[in-house]
Amino acid sequence: MNEQIRACIKDKKRIVIKIGSSSLQHAETGDMDYVKLEKLVRALCDIRNQGKEVVLVSSGAIAAGRNAMKLSNRADIAGDSPIAVKQACAAVGQARLMMVYQKLFSEYNHIAAQILMTKNTIVDDLNRFNAHNTFMELLKLGAIPVVNENDTVATYEIEIGDNDTLSAIVAALIEADLLILLSDIDGLYSDDPRTNPKAEFIEVVEHLDDKIMQMGRSTTGSNVGTGGMGTKLIAAQIATKSGADMIIANSVNLEVIHQIMEGENVGTLFKAHSDESFDLKKFVTNLHKN
Ligand code: GLU
Repeated sequence: MNEQIRACIKDKKRIVIKIGSSSLQHAETGDMDYVKLEKLVRALCDIRNQGKEVVLVSSGAIAAGRNAMKLSNRADIAGDSPIAVKQACAAVGQARLMMVYQKLFSEYNHIAAQILMTKNTIVDDLNRFNAHNTFMELLKLGAIPVVNENDTVATYEIEIGDNDTLSAIVAALIEADLLILLSDIDGLYSDDPRTNPKAEFIEVVEHLDDKIMQMGRSTTGSNVGTGGMGTKLIAAQIATKSGADMIIANSVNLEVIHQIMEGENVGTLFKAHSDESFDLKKFVTNLHKN
């Protein structure tokens, strides 16, 4: 069964790929990992060259800004920074990140486009309409949208809060047929593998039931991004209900993107189950309210 599902991945046409901050920087220094960024961009360009549409959701703005302004070593603002510091870091870091993406994508003859979103982008009807149209136009023009939360203005009330959820929202908004979440974990385990050696790896999730949602307790252990398994399972709900398969895979080796697209059995695959009654606006409006 899993083999049949995996074989269908080759036919996907509109793909959203999310990469987390911890996958884009050197753990020791917090500086950008250009080798990984380069591999990521090359893989995306290759998918684009196959005639498929690609959207990248990239974290790393706050981390890049914090590093650029050498704030990482200051105990008073490292870690749980005040919101204004995070927003300032995002303002610096997002520009840096895009500068690198522009450069790398253009080396492979592709055009990167920046889209920054908040909760309001989806909740407000006119904003959502505009965002949808912009994505569609960019894809039609052959550009590769690079998406992040608009962290410089997003405070608690209007933030989506993590890029796992954001990438699923993007997938739903643009009717993508595949969402790939690249992170520092292999996929979904029945329990936290760091504390429970008997935790089993789950290759495919046919139905997202309560038992699976319970498994979201375990976290990634990474301290630079915001997404643990909980946010990935929320992303899986949004993606699968809106008609996209979703795969969680480990970004330690970015060759994994190619393997996924070739239908190889890597990571955890969540099977799409289009739900006509799924209302993206309502879902996003209620985010963080429970
Ligand atoms: N938007 C944040 C950033 O770019 C990251 C959020 C996340 O990693 O989930 O720094």
